[in-house]
Amino acid sequence: MPIASSEVVWVDQPKKLSFWESTFLTSLLEGLRITGSHVTDNKTVTQQYPEVKPELPLHYRGVHRLNRDEEGRVKCVACMMCATACPARCIEIVAAPAPKDDPLWAGRDKFPASFVIDELKCIYCGMCEEACPCDAIELTHIYDLTGQSRQEMLFDKEKLLEVYDKTKDCALDPARTHRGRLSGCSEFASLPTVGPATSIHPEDRASHAASPGKIDRCAQQPAQEAVL
Ligand code: SF4
Ligand code: SF4
Repeated sequence: MPIASSEVVWVDQPKKLSFWESTFLTSLLEGLRITGSHVTDNKTVTQQYPEVKPELPLHYRGVHRLNRDEEGRVKCVACMMCATACPARCIEIVAAPAPKDDPLWAGRDKFPASFVIDELKCIYCGMCEEACPCDAIELTHIYDLTGQSRQEMLFDKEKLLEVYDKTKDCALDPARTHRGRLSGCSEFASLPTVGPATSIHPEDRASHAASPGKIDRCAQQPAQEAVL
């Protein structure tokens, strides 16, 4: 179909470059000036990781944990809301009825017989903790997550509960969700950072055992009876 002349837009020819412009010397000098200004700028923009631990915002989203209730049971009621909300489809839950004859599970209908998060597929968007109606799943400040196989990066229920046990008493990772909303996120905005972040690597923990907020320090708290 021919184009109507009213739809044709004519643009001017670019203006001819002067002799100096055609040598690109002025652009080159301008680029060097900008680079030089960054070189002489005293402002530090690079953190010396791993010697210096990064300072993270309070609402940083790292490795997940599964919280426990007051009885030490897994708080999750296997409602599947988090798995449904997850855009990366990396949460797999197998629900089971709570044992009726066990007094420990009194008042509970369901629990997750299996709960697995693929930490490699996860995009750490936080939708799962926002979707959870009972504050059972949360993201922590643990950021230095490594593994030597894909299998290692599949965090099952036991591992997720272990993360809870190790982080619950850290000042960095208090319960942060309430009824599906990140607690005080707007207040967090005025608090820029929370200091050195938690590490889950044993050697790192050993070298920083005296630092507040480290997992080693938190692990010294009395152990809670594990109920999976
Ligand atoms: S943080 Fe986002 S991507 Fe990761 S498990 Fe939760 S909902 Fe899924
Ligand atoms: S939304 Fe919360 S309670 Fe429901 S399955 Fe996920 S973690 Fe469990």
